[in-house]
Amino acid sequence: MEEKLARRRRRVLLIPAPAQGHITPIIQLAKALHFKGFSITIAQTKFNYLNPSKNLSDFQFVTIPESLQESDLKNLGPGRFMIKLAKECYVSFKDWLGQFLVKQQSINEEIVCVIYDEFMYFVEAAVKEFKLHNVILSTTSASAFVCRFVMFKLYAIDGLAHLKGSGGREEELVPELYPIRYKDLPTSVVAPVEISVELFNNTCYKGTASSIIINTVRCLEISSLEWLQRELAIPVYPIGPLHMVASASPTSLLEEDKSCIEWLNKQKSSSVVYISLGSFTMMETKEVLEMASGLVSSNQSFLWVIRPGSIRTSEMSEEELFRKMVTLERGCIVKWAPQKQVLAHSAVGAFWSHCGWNSTLESLGEGVPMICRPFMTDQKGNARYLECVWKVGIQVEGEIERGVVERAVKRLMVDEEGEEMKRRALILKEKLKVSVSAEGSSHKSLDDFIKTL
Ligand code: UDP
Repeated sequence: MEEKLARRRRRVLLIPAPAQGHITPIIQLAKALHFKGFSITIAQTKFNYLNPSKNLSDFQFVTIPESLQESDLKNLGPGRFMIKLAKECYVSFKDWLGQFLVKQQSINEEIVCVIYDEFMYFVEAAVKEFKLHNVILSTTSASAFVCRFVMFKLYAIDGLAHLKGSGGREEELVPELYPIRYKDLPTSVVAPVEISVELFNNTCYKGTASSIIINTVRCLEISSLEWLQRELAIPVYPIGPLHMVASASPTSLLEEDKSCIEWLNKQKSSSVVYISLGSFTMMETKEVLEMASGLVSSNQSFLWVIRPGSIRTSEMSEEELFRKMVTLERGCIVKWAPQKQVLAHSAVGAFWSHCGWNSTLESLGEGVPMICRPFMTDQKGNARYLECVWKVGIQVEGEIERGVVERAVKRLMVDEEGEEMKRRALILKEKLKVSVSAEGSSHKSLDDFIKTL
């Protein structure tokens, strides 16, 4: 019997939300746990399924039953889509998990813990029923987590009044949330505030998880982490940046165009503005053209990721627009880049970003200052932290217009102000390196978490 128990394998089940910015960090966390000796199962939806590549061949990949389509995301938008996904998976996941546990037991494996993305909150009920160790992974920042809580509290006080910014409060700071203004709270441009509130009501932790892992670092967000620790009364483990904690793995849903690295190799040191707006964000044709003109007038080179379908074409077809753009001098345009490699390249001097949390951490990890153009949700708060707290970014607000673009690029790439930001960014990079070293805070957090398993 003892021998049998000793041979029992310890497996962690991880459940990502089906979006690029959520899949990548959970796979990185899985890699870190695998390195510490755990067997790994990733349970994914069919929708946005990450094809297990060779480098992930040590992991078991399984599929959660659901029947959502690409068109559901287009028609519903991300917020409503996640609510629909949760409703659809609520029962099917419980059945699936029951069968999965029986199978694992038959091969003498113990599921020591289920780690699920905070937006896959339907997992909680099933995990509770089977009395499994239940851990939430937050792939957004600690301050975004705090903002969601506060939004929900504001909603409880006076409904949507504060959140819709009525009474001209948009520019005001939210009490005790510096530097967040009411307009920076994580609402979405693609869904009404009511939907964000409904989603946050479900994702805000209500007391059955054993702990929460956040893809962040103590030195970046100490006050938000302390706030969460006080409010949640369960352990909060800041284990990030996960891309630096775990070794790199291929996690892109789209194919990376590596030709841009060859192009970067031909550019001067710190001379290129890298532009990428993540995996969701859409732009208007007019904005793209204004940005392109501003970049050309700034006289800086640029590498621009334009995802297929990311431009709302009206005046001209996407193909026409592309042809117009690639004739620009000094530019390289790709559909999807190996972003971490790009940010690590010495030719890159600045990152024009939508400020998704992964992009933010990846840029901070390489000491690259940012031009922040957030669109929605937590991106707005991340941009505020970059500009006002860490002071390594410039936020571009209001309408995109060529003069504004030119000015922002020059401030970062040419002016003394940009040099100072670069210096601060390099200091932060060193601090992050220390955090993920063997003696660092993130590493210690990971070890503390593992002791609970
Ligand atoms: N990314 C990439 N290549 C690109 C653009 C983005 O590999 O051309 C990756 C990027 O490195 C990051 C993720 O996609 O890990 C985007 O996540 P983020 O949280 O920044 O934004 P989201 O897509 O969730 O809005």
